[in-house]
Amino acid sequence: MTDRRTAVITGASSGIGEACARAFASEGLHVVLGARREAQLAQVADEIVAAGGAATAVPCDVTDAAQVDRLVTAALEATGRLDVMVCNAGLGYNGRLDETDADRMRRLMEVNFFGTFHAARAAVAHFRQAGRGHLFIVSSIVGRKGVPRMAAYAATKFAQVGLGESVRAELAGTGVHVTLVYPISTETEFRRAMVREWGLDVSGAGPRQSPEHVAATMVRALRRPRADVYPMRLSRLVPAASALLPGLADWVATRFSRTPK
Ligand code: NDP
Repeated sequence: MTDRRTAVITGASSGIGEACARAFASEGLHVVLGARREAQLAQVADEIVAAGGAATAVPCDVTDAAQVDRLVTAALEATGRLDVMVCNAGLGYNGRLDETDADRMRRLMEVNFFGTFHAARAAVAHFRQAGRGHLFIVSSIVGRKGVPRMAAYAATKFAQVGLGESVRAELAGTGVHVTLVYPISTETEFRRAMVREWGLDVSGAGPRQSPEHVAATMVRALRRPRADVYPMRLSRLVPAASALLPGLADWVATRFSRTPK
């Protein structure tokens, strides 16, 4: 077993997952990267290694539990340990409810929710045995407040939160930490992936942040575990505003919703 802690990160071929991989590697962790696009994944791993870090690329589709189990097994084989799991792989969607058929809803659930479920389940089994570990789940601010044209996406992001909060309570006092991450709009391949996956070209609205900023807040939570990470500080007010003033929160959400180009 190596002295370096090991982190498995899903969706590490671009965006927040890639930035998180680089940041966690800079913290001295061996990062094991999972995603479907092999060339991009290998390039991220190669660049981390060239910069003096430790990284292993493992092609993986998170919708397939067996592939996620293989990702965890590959991490254990490469390093002998598993300390951190980052459930980050995800896919966006934009469309009114009446434009969203059940096949699209199922696909989103498979990637965003079941991808998280498979990875969290595989990791928590190891964490419980080891009596330590840290599970990160990358949800979204849309997992705290629904916005127009995002009913399907928001449903998957709320589902991640329900899972994460419940697991956190189950694991209280065991030495295993659970952190939920709620990014606002982030400059990643997220919108390009919606074009690739669904042929949907949408423009964003409202404030943006960089994936490196999100990753830096996750590094702080890695050093000092906390339940919730809101990379944009003010967005911490969203759940309270939504509970206390739902009409006003809906009006604000409408102003920040994405629309087709
Ligand atoms: P990107 O599109 O840049 O990254 C998404 C990552 O998920 C890619 O590495 C992609 O890799 C991977 N992925 C997608 N489907 C699968 C799959 N079936 N199996 C394995 N990996 C998969 O977007 P972001 O970095 O922005 O997204 C990361 C997370 O952040 C998502 O959960 C998203 O919902 C969340 N988020 C994003 C926001 C934003 O505005 N960008 C805001 C709030 C939350 P590959 O295609 O190679 O498989």
